[in-house]
Amino acid sequence: MLSTIARISLAFLPTPLHELPRLTGLLQSPTLVIKRDDQTGLALGGNKTRKLEYLLGDALSQHCDTIVTAGAKQSNHCRQTSAAAARLGLRCELLLQGDKPNTPEGNLLLDLLFGAVVHWKDDKNTPQSLDELADTVRLHGYNPYIIPYGGSNALGALGYINAMLELADQQKNLLRPITHIIVPSCSGATQVGLVIGARLTGFTGKIIGISVDYDITNKEYYQKLHVDLAYATCAKIGVNMAFTCDDFTICYDYAQGYGMVHDSERNAIQLMAQYEGILLDPVYTGRAFGALLNMINKNIFAPTDTILFWHTGGTPALFPYADSLMTTI
Ligand SMILES: *Cc1c(COP(=O)(O)O)cnc(C)c1O
Repeated sequence: MLSTIARISLAFLPTPLHELPRLTGLLQSPTLVIKRDDQTGLALGGNKTRKLEYLLGDALSQHCDTIVTAGAKQSNHCRQTSAAAARLGLRCELLLQGDKPNTPEGNLLLDLLFGAVVHWKDDKNTPQSLDELADTVRLHGYNPYIIPYGGSNALGALGYINAMLELADQQKNLLRPITHIIVPSCSGATQVGLVIGARLTGFTGKIIGISVDYDITNKEYYQKLHVDLAYATCAKIGVNMAFTCDDFTICYDYAQGYGMVHDSERNAIQLMAQYEGILLDPVYTGRAFGALLNMINKNIFAPTDTILFWHTGGTPALFPYADSLMTTI
C-alpha cells in the first residue's frame, strides 16, 4: 500500500490546477488547464520534489548520511535533491555531465548554494559512475544513498501515483472531465507514476508524454523501460497490474535533441509568458508545450476536450539559456 511507504514531506501540496483562459481564447482551442508542479515549493519547484519525498524517506530509513546522484549540468533533479538534502541535514554529492564552467549559472549556482559537492564527469580524476562515486564516499567514512538519474526508479514513480490521486480530487472542480494530459518525458518515472495512478483512480483521459531527448532510434527499448519500471513500481505497493508498451503513449516527433532550443520552444515559452504570465523552461516544458501547440494546430483535439498541460518545472534553466531564448534586447 502506498500509505505504508516511508515518505518525507518536501512539497507544498496540492499544487494548483487552473485554466489558461487567454491562451485558450487566442488559440481558439479546446479548454486548456495547467497543473502547476513548477510550484512544488522546494528550491523553485519542479517534478523531482514529489519523487524525492519517497526517495529521501527511504534514505533516512536506511540511516544514510550522504545523497549521491547525477545529471546534466543544468539538472533540475540535482538542484531539488541538493535542496532536499540540505533541508534534512544530509550531505549531497553530484556527478554532473561535462566539464566545470567558469561561472556557475542557473541550476548549478543553486546546487552550490545548497552546499552540494559537485564532481565533473569530464575530469578524468573523478569517479565516472554513481557506483564509483558511492565507493569514494564510503572511503571517506560516510554512508551513501544512490538516487539514479532523474530520480527514476520505483520509489520515485510513487510520487506521481500520488500526484494522480491529487488530480482526481481537483478534477471535480472542472466543468468537464480532462480528456488529455500532456507531460514532458525523459527518464520515465513521471509518466509511469501517472499511468499507474490513472488506473487506480479510474482516470479515462489519454496521457501523452513528449520525449525531450534525441530522436530516439531504439524506441522499443525506451518503451520497454517504462513497462519494467511500471511492474517494479506496482511491486513496491503490492498492486497487481499488467502492462504492455502500448500503455505508455510517448510522442517522439518533437525529440530534437536534449536541451536544444528551436523556434518551437522559443515560441511556446514566449506565448505562455505573454498570455498567461507563466514561465516555462527551455529543456522540458518549452519543448512539450511547443508540441501541444503544434497538435492544436493540426486539429487533433475535439472542441469539447479539456487538455491538461502538466508543468513539471525547470525554470531556473531559463537564465543560462538567455542567448538562445532572446536574440535582441
Ligand atoms: C526531469 C524533468 C522532467 C522529466 O521527468 P521524467 O520523470 O524524468 O520523465 C520533466 N520536466 C522537468 C522540468 C524535469 O526536470
